[in-house]
Amino acid sequence: MRSILKALPLLALAANVEARSCGNEHVPQNVMNNARMLYKQEQRANARTLQSWQDETLNINTYFHVISTDDTVEGGNIPDDMLKAQLDALNRDYAQIGITFDLKGTTRTVSEKFANDPDEEGTAMKKELRNGTYADLNLYFRKLTGGLLGICVFPENVEEGSDTFKNDGCQCHTDTLPGGSLKPYDEGKTCTHEVGHWLGLFHTFQGGCKGGDLVDDTPPESSPAFGCPKDRDTCKGDDLKDPINNFMDYSDDACMTEFTPGQKTRVMSCWKEFREKWNAQPGEDA
Ligand SMILES: [Zn+2]
Repeated sequence: MRSILKALPLLALAANVEARSCGNEHVPQNVMNNARMLYKQEQRANARTLQSWQDETLNINTYFHVISTDDTVEGGNIPDDMLKAQLDALNRDYAQIGITFDLKGTTRTVSEKFANDPDEEGTAMKKELRNGTYADLNLYFRKLTGGLLGICVFPENVEEGSDTFKNDGCQCHTDTLPGGSLKPYDEGKTCTHEVGHWLGLFHTFQGGCKGGDLVDDTPPESSPAFGCPKDRDTCKGDDLKDPINNFMDYSDDACMTEFTPGQKTRVMSCWKEFREKWNAQPGEDA
């Protein structure tokens, strides 16, 4: 009897845990072609240029958008201190590659339509709420369905006011924010991972053992890692352990701790190609 009583709460807890899943497993062909172009460009760059990219810092204007069905936490509203903790988590995780996030504004929208929109891209919501230029990050927090913890949009060439422009930004499941209920994804690193896509990074398991993330210093792996499987090595013959600690894998939040220099190179070459020029655009109201 005692053991049954003890086991029941554990079972109830286990039912709430979803494995990490991200909406960016499919990379659109034009985005993949762009990444191949950037990869070639990085290969041709001289050592001095590559070093200057490593040393460069970015400060990114950031807008938060909270989408809920009512103003309660259960309905998806998020207390200010939790939003602050998410901003801190982003700044903590990106400090190692010299990127900071400067929160310029937070919107709170009570809307059944947006909160429960089955369109995983949240196109209608983003069209109404997106703020700033294409160099500015918009993060949308809502209770995503279908097991998705987050989904984002890769950078590309856009025209101001176009549908592609308005659709830019990342969504993070409300319960993945620091202190959220989606253990073990409760340290705010889902947003760190999604913003990685916004900056042009692919999953470390993209393309499996063929190394399809087009970053040379992230060892290939045949599939996403879950939990924190130390010494995992799914691609034989390369003598390299899987990059389970990388923010662009699917490991538990506690296990995700790093970006590589190669990823910083890609972030910078991608930034210069697609987003940097928008920083100079005047007249975009905050
Ligand atoms: Zn992802």
